[in-house]
Amino acid sequence: MLAQAFLSALLLVGSGAHAHKGCGGQEVMRRNPGGRNIDSYAEYASELKRGREGRLDRRQATPTDEASGAESTDPSFECTGYSYAPWAALKANYPTIWETATILSTDTDAQTLFATINSSVAAKFPNIGPKGTNSGDFTGVTYDYGTDPDCWWTDHECTTPAADTGLAADITTVPEALTWGYGFDDGPNCSHNAFYDFLQDNGQKATMFYIGSNVADWPLQALRGYADGHQIAVHTWSHRYMTSFTNEEVFAELYYTRKLIKDILGVTPKYWRPPYGDVDNRVRFIAAALNLTNVVWTDDSEDWKEGVPADNVTAADVTANYQAVIDKAGNGTYTSSGPVVLTHELTNFTMSEAISQYAAIKAAFKYMVPIATAYNDTNPYEETNVTYPDFLTYTNQSSSSSSSSSSSSSASAGSAGLTASSGGSSAAASGSAAATTTSGASASTTSKAASSAGRIEAGVLGVAVGLGGAVAMLL
Ligand SMILES: [Zn+2]
Repeated sequence: MLAQAFLSALLLVGSGAHAHKGCGGQEVMRRNPGGRNIDSYAEYASELKRGREGRLDRRQATPTDEASGAESTDPSFECTGYSYAPWAALKANYPTIWETATILSTDTDAQTLFATINSSVAAKFPNIGPKGTNSGDFTGVTYDYGTDPDCWWTDHECTTPAADTGLAADITTVPEALTWGYGFDDGPNCSHNAFYDFLQDNGQKATMFYIGSNVADWPLQALRGYADGHQIAVHTWSHRYMTSFTNEEVFAELYYTRKLIKDILGVTPKYWRPPYGDVDNRVRFIAAALNLTNVVWTDDSEDWKEGVPADNVTAADVTANYQAVIDKAGNGTYTSSGPVVLTHELTNFTMSEAISQYAAIKAAFKYMVPIATAYNDTNPYEETNVTYPDFLTYTNQSSSSSSSSSSSSSASAGSAGLTASSGGSSAAASGSAAATTTSGASASTTSKAASSAGRIEAGVLGVAVGLGGAVAMLL
């Protein structure tokens, strides 16, 4: 699929649409072959702790048990498949991973919700249909590329739908001066522990746009992202071109990714990013109906192209792309807003490059924050009992009451921490891996129990779909 996607990208150039910019496909260890059983996040986190200690020991050049110490930061170990009982139990309720998602014939909740959304789409955008192939071949698509009536990002990077659509503009920047909107696509990557350790050591949170099929393959890695206090967001089920899909497929790609993140992590994301940036008003409408805010970007690091022969992008090119954004911090570009830069946890290169660039970004920009934080959204999930710091709190500029709304049983690990209270449990965002062991596991189990009250704001539909016990799994 990867080769196909890039080939299609080349074809785009001649198709009338502008050459797309966006993240690449996901070929990294995408199949979970089964293997050993890991029954809980606690067990996984204790492995993380061993790996972390081993790494620190090696740094200090003291004798250590290399074999166990290397476990959790050695990609070949980290990417050995495992069986995680909660996912095994849920698998029958989901589409086949890495295939285009469709609504399961047994899923009446999804069918009912989709029927409502679908009739609205048909009424609102009767002239927008699927475009091209799901691997991004838009050759032969009949479209008015000049006027771009569908606000199709892949045409001319349109991010502001016409006012009469009622659709919100996409998020492209962050509304804070000299602030880098920090996020990574295509995770959870099975080998991300060294990178996530680095972020943890720096007290740094980011927005992680997770692919549903990757969450299914690597649920424990996804749990780590949440336990570490990152903002978890949706990056579709199978990582294909969204404008190529039928209404049902668009819905299912988003719906099942949200649902899986809820089932595994206990929270329902309110933000998403389209693979390759490929979105138009029809796709935006369906996403908005699922209460998902679309986040694209201002700058592309092109880290996803490194190592792909057809793209001819070198590591030095990617470094230069980072540097170009960093340089703009010094020339007055970001006096009232900041960039959102497309970067990935796709390969060891993209992650190690992010680590390499961190100090320079930090020096040039005043702040690096997750997207929701930049927008002062302390509730980036449907579950209102999970709160994140607002911008001022995250950046230690003042304390805020907005991140202390949890019950007395909750605990927050520092000013930049995630606070989650779910029936007496808490999820700490930072601290040792041992600390996240307990909190991550409890967040995942208890928040399901707390999910029965809530609703999906149906966004542009102008209606709210009430969710009772029968559809509690949605939340
Ligand atoms: Zn992607």
